[in-house]
Amino acid sequence: MSETAIDIAPGSEVLETSLGVLHEVFGYDDFRGPQAEIVAHVGAGGDALVLMPTGGGKSLCYQVPAIVRERAGQGLTVVVSPLIALMHDQVGALIEAGVAAAFLNSSLSSEDAQKVEKQMLRGELTLLYAAPERLTTPRFLALLDSLHERGKLGLFAIDEAHCVSQWGHDFRPEYRALVVLHERFAGVPRVALTATADDLTRADIVERLQLQGARTFISSFDRPNIRYQLVEKKDATTQLLRFIRDEHGSAAGHDAGIVYCQSRRRVEEVAAMLCDAGLTALPYHAGLDAAVRQRHQDRFLREEGLIMVATIAFGMGIDKPDVRFVAHLDMPKNIEGYYQETGRAGRDGEPANAWMAYGLQDVVNQRRMIDESPAADEFKQVLRGKLDALLTLAEASDCRRVRLLSYFGEASQPCGNCDNCLTPPELHDATESARKLLSCIYRVQQASGTAFGAGHIMDILRGKLTEKVTQYGHEKLSTFGIGADLSETQWRALLRQLIAREAVAVHDAPYNTLHLADAARDILKGQSPVWLKTLSDKAAGSSRGSRQRAARATARDDGQPLSLSERECLEALKTWRAGVAREHNLPAFVIFHDATLRAIASRKPETLADLDGIAGIGQKKREAYGADVVRVVSAFV
Ligand code: ADP
Ligand code: ZN
Repeated sequence: MSETAIDIAPGSEVLETSLGVLHEVFGYDDFRGPQAEIVAHVGAGGDALVLMPTGGGKSLCYQVPAIVRERAGQGLTVVVSPLIALMHDQVGALIEAGVAAAFLNSSLSSEDAQKVEKQMLRGELTLLYAAPERLTTPRFLALLDSLHERGKLGLFAIDEAHCVSQWGHDFRPEYRALVVLHERFAGVPRVALTATADDLTRADIVERLQLQGARTFISSFDRPNIRYQLVEKKDATTQLLRFIRDEHGSAAGHDAGIVYCQSRRRVEEVAAMLCDAGLTALPYHAGLDAAVRQRHQDRFLREEGLIMVATIAFGMGIDKPDVRFVAHLDMPKNIEGYYQETGRAGRDGEPANAWMAYGLQDVVNQRRMIDESPAADEFKQVLRGKLDALLTLAEASDCRRVRLLSYFGEASQPCGNCDNCLTPPELHDATESARKLLSCIYRVQQASGTAFGAGHIMDILRGKLTEKVTQYGHEKLSTFGIGADLSETQWRALLRQLIAREAVAVHDAPYNTLHLADAARDILKGQSPVWLKTLSDKAAGSSRGSRQRAARATARDDGQPLSLSERECLEALKTWRAGVAREHNLPAFVIFHDATLRAIASRKPETLADLDGIAGIGQKKREAYGADVVRVVSAFV
């Protein structure tokens, strides 16, 4: 009788139906995190704004309500997605699961597009994916009108909703026109979804899409299965190669991963280097021909164990679930970008690595790009602040995850799954060395009336009689040679620490020179201690990590490693899956996820009934593939 009573009753009923759909269609046991609440709310006709990290499981938040509403006679769900290139695979995955789905975008011939429109009007579709520019044409809106008039328009799902905001990182003006959905189709519920968390973008989405009445669902942004490792850059490409071989290599090949680089040239070089080393790697950047880019992306999605070496042009909407590592060979611009990019690892919830090599030069380069950009001064100041926050994360000696999450406003406890948690760095008091470094910067500038860069300052500290040193007479300074006790690497580490603490500033004019900044005074006075990580040659956590990882990558449901015959069975299943995927022109993970194949290999089903309860096998897939799976397995029983 009260409003809440009416609300709750249909919601809980819808939840039950939704669970049924989850089992039957998707073959999963339970909803994850807030999914249950969301599908109940949306399925019952409520508007929602869903903020969930990449890999959190946003798709089911609208796919399950879409099926529930269609079965209840409420008609079609229209999914707005900006990524034409990926609609094909998303729709393919739904069709594999037995859901009537189609897409409309510029890749279809007009004949095929008309076919889809007819299906839609005849009520034969449960989900229709469309690009925003297509959706908002007068012609298409008129088609939707005719569905709406008959009560056959069940739901709008707006994916990647941050595209509506110029504060988001992927502003798409076409998204602005989507406000028409609210104005024109009163009463049709809308769910907007994004992995972008910041307040500004969120408020903008609500306003631009007029979602004021919508319920907001915010998930934790933690990605517990991702292990963060930030290492000091020495010989970056050698370090990368070692990381991939140690943690992601096996006799059978290597895991799928993404390596991000700053420039197109570097992308080409690194891809070539990895190939020379016998790995399978492809380049991807905006300078490549569109057809080449498309081909490389397709191969990355479809083949197993391929490494994509890319600029940040690659990745938006790549929903490949089994990317096992994301490596940054150069430091990104800010924590938002870093989190977005690393979030592409381990969407399937299995262990994955986020690895970054960074050095002083990265900071200097990023600073220079900001300084040289034509942006307004206040804006540059914001960019510098964001870069500094990332540097502070990189220099941190405590839990990376605690710092990352707190950057996004979330409190947490040390995670036990980052380099610093696994191998807490040994620290030593470096206050005295810091003071030497600071006074050296000061004296040099005073004596010469001009500032110098890091290399020259290190030379003076370490007492190296270079040409430049003698040219300026810097060997006569009192700070000449006072730092011979530390190696250049150690001095650089200390310098980064001081930059992160804003005791030293790097100015671009004249060229990357070092200057004392505000926090220098307290350190010089000895009032603010400086702790430095004691350098060790071994990459933090690497050997321990690899053993754990190797064990888990081939683990059974109960965590025990697969036996030899189980591993052979798994390989046979993968070969069978590759054949099916090729035949259907879809990525292998759309047929079955690795985790599903592993569960099959360890359970060795002998009948179709034995397939019950294996996650990822819904009714349709059991009918379509069950017999094949049992046949493949029978050779190993
Ligand atoms: P997002 O779009 O939020 O990045 P996806 O919707 O692609 O995430 O889901 C990520 C992965 O998690 C997919 O492989 C999906 O099949 C899986 N997944 C999502 N929800 C569940 C669930 N309730 N049970 C099991 N697996 C799930
Ligand atoms: Zn940690």
